[in-house]
Amino acid sequence: TEYQENLIPYTRDELIKKVHEKLDDKRFQHCLRVEQQAFQLAKQNQVNTEKAAIAGLLHDYAKQRSDHDFIKVINDKQMDPELLDYGNAIWHGVVGAEFIKDELHIFDEEILNAVRRHTVGAPYMTRLDQIIYMADYIEPGRDFPGVEKARELTNQSLKKGVFFQTQQTLKYLVENGRPIYPGTIATYNAWQNIQ
Ligand code: GDP
Ligand code: FE
Ligand code: FE
Repeated sequence: TEYQENLIPYTRDELIKKVHEKLDDKRFQHCLRVEQQAFQLAKQNQVNTEKAAIAGLLHDYAKQRSDHDFIKVINDKQMDPELLDYGNAIWHGVVGAEFIKDELHIFDEEILNAVRRHTVGAPYMTRLDQIIYMADYIEPGRDFPGVEKARELTNQSLKKGVFFQTQQTLKYLVENGRPIYPGTIATYNAWQNIQ
């Protein structure tokens, strides 16, 4: 399968190889499932399917980098120092997009933003952002209480899915005494009244 648009300087096979090189097989297989799930959600929601597939494949590209590597990028690029209070869970998306630019030379801001927003969301999310956020949560390999409800809501409306996921994630973090990134709370508040 070849990409029809020149969004990135690679074929799908070349991109797959580059992603696989940076991830263990389990994480790589998850990325392939998110690619397919994102393609399907894009088709259902009249979004560019190729962009969705590429962003889905790339979304966890930086997941297995060391804390040291992330801290260096945050400092070198003078990103928000508040990021330093969090860890890989937050960094691999928000900061991970920088590795995609620097190593893969992919500069499509819609794709990069979807990667940046895939874990914590954002008060304003494009439909592509919403698709990657949800595809990551409901891909067929996911199995947790509530995933079927998440799939049903997302098929009804992306926005319902986004609010549900944000609410579930916040509940989980609070119940487990985990720190909450302010961006996660901002997402929750902004998506509050979406029906
Ligand atoms: P994955 O990369 O495919 O495993 O999925 P995600 O990128 O969606 O999430 C990575 C992890 O980040 C999950 O375990 C979430 O629970 C966690 N996470 C999401 N929001 C926050 C937050 O505000 N604070 C913290 N500490 N973790 C979060
Ligand atoms: Fe992730
Ligand atoms: Fe993921």
